[in-house]
Amino acid sequence: MKSDIEICRDTTLTPIDLIAQRAGLLPEDLTPQGTLKAKVKPSILKRLADNEEGKLVVVTAITPTPLGEGKTVTTIGLAQGLAKINQSVMACIRQPSMGPVFGVKGGAAGGGFSQVAPMEKLNLHLTGDIHAVTAAHNLAAAAIDARVYHEERHGYESFSEKTGMPALRIDMERIVWKRVMDHNDRALRMITVGKNQPGKTINGIEREDGFDISAASELMAILALSKDLADMRLRIGRVVLAYDLDGKPVTAEDLQVAGAMTVTMIEAIEPTMMQTLEGVPTLIHAGPFANIAHGNSSIIADRIALKLADYTITEGGFGSDMGFEKACNIKAQQAGRGPDCAVVVATLRGLKANSGLYDLRPGQALPQAIFETDEKALVAGFDNLKWHINNTAKYGVPVVVAINRFPQDTDAELTQLKEMIEAEQFATHVDVAISEAFGKGGEGAVELAKAVTRACETPANFKPLYELSQTLEEKLMTVAEVGYGCRGVELSELAKAQLAQFKAQGYDNLALCMAKTPLSISHDPSQKGAPSDFIVPVRELKLCAGAGFVYALCGNVMTMPGLPEKPAYLGLDIDADGNIVGLS
Ligand code: ADP
Ligand code: MG
Repeated sequence: MKSDIEICRDTTLTPIDLIAQRAGLLPEDLTPQGTLKAKVKPSILKRLADNEEGKLVVVTAITPTPLGEGKTVTTIGLAQGLAKINQSVMACIRQPSMGPVFGVKGGAAGGGFSQVAPMEKLNLHLTGDIHAVTAAHNLAAAAIDARVYHEERHGYESFSEKTGMPALRIDMERIVWKRVMDHNDRALRMITVGKNQPGKTINGIEREDGFDISAASELMAILALSKDLADMRLRIGRVVLAYDLDGKPVTAEDLQVAGAMTVTMIEAIEPTMMQTLEGVPTLIHAGPFANIAHGNSSIIADRIALKLADYTITEGGFGSDMGFEKACNIKAQQAGRGPDCAVVVATLRGLKANSGLYDLRPGQALPQAIFETDEKALVAGFDNLKWHINNTAKYGVPVVVAINRFPQDTDAELTQLKEMIEAEQFATHVDVAISEAFGKGGEGAVELAKAVTRACETPANFKPLYELSQTLEEKLMTVAEVGYGCRGVELSELAKAQLAQFKAQGYDNLALCMAKTPLSISHDPSQKGAPSDFIVPVRELKLCAGAGFVYALCGNVMTMPGLPEKPAYLGLDIDADGNIVGLS
């Protein structure tokens, strides 16, 4: 079989204005970016206000291996499958970060015959939205250090007299806004800024700082959660950058940088329309990771798709304990609309990896055995799939399991897994289909598409796990105990103090965003299968007042990933004709 990039290059694509027109867009709704991608103006939502909304399908998965179990492949394949059975459909996915593209996982355009095209454009920069987020974020970081420097240099009173602005009296020890960039760079996790030559001060005031990856920036979450440009402006204003010497929050509005940050992101708020290899319109927008952020593409893109198509297929990152939990508890509560159906992607390799029969250490190569026939491991790993089906069912939505077929999978084992699912009793509508979307495109996902249309006809009774009016502590306990099924939560002294502080400052009604490993349902990547005897350690909380959540760092999760020994970039190059090779 050809490589992903070869398949993509050998496919004749349709001009994007035609794709957009077929989807119901007018030329004035679009800002074309070349012939194969176009920005879509969110103002179109006014014109479409009276259109009825279609069904929202969220694709999630079992606990994945670091390679990914095929949610994006299934999202794109399912959209193509629905188009094959003559349904009107759009896919909405996130823009890939260059961290994973060059790091462990590689691209995130799908794969095989279920890809967003051109995949190299999607995987590398696209229309620069992530860079706009990075630039807006770092503008605020520069603004804080500059303001501290100028206020110190003049003294607070003279600063006020000279500039006509109040002194913010930022507490140097309590600057909570780091810098970001869109790469995996562990060397930047802890840095010193403002270093000077001996006796000089012109470089500012020295302090300890650090970088996060752009996908973890609060601005990325804001981009994904905003209703429109005006809402994005207000949210950016609410971002807390630091605390002053009295312990009061200093926001982007206080620093008068929120306007400039919004302006930097003014084009990023427009989703980018692309197409799948079979010409299904796809909206690409925002890219928060699901382990260290809320892990779902944007509310704006979903809204546009829901107004234009009968089915909108989107993806929540990692397993259902991660992106799907956040799709339901964070995104849906802010959007005022939950999913109508969940698709849980399962793979033979992923279930075998969850069997507990292998020693899987983060950062080490996966054992060859999980790619081979092994009934014992499949049966042992099945608990993980059951856990994820039951977990999605908790939210009151019908479930379709998509068994994502890999080239090495045997008919016998695939059928065995299907029968194991069919033999179980679940509290909700559960259907199952084997998906050959990777190898056969939409044709390989027709059964899955039919199962999804059936599921969407059964009444959904969507319910998030918590109400925003509950306290932060109650929400945290609910996600850990009901969402993960743990035995308890252990808050560090810092986390306890932060909970009290956020409550006192009026932030108790925000949502809760857990940052934890995606490689286990628990906080500990070595606990595979369906663990329940664990206590979630919460190390630290972070306030994201603009995004509308507080995020809780559990276990050792890092907000700036590192590159592995053999990163994905090793294979990337150009050929003699200037074509990109080695991207998958
Ligand atoms: P996820 O979105 O769940 O992280 P992806 O859809 O990105 O997963 O798939 C992860 C990787 O596995 C990609 O490189 C993809 O091309 C590959 N892949 C997914 N499904 C299949 C399949 N059925 N056969 C072969 N490769 C696949
Ligand atoms: Mg994906």
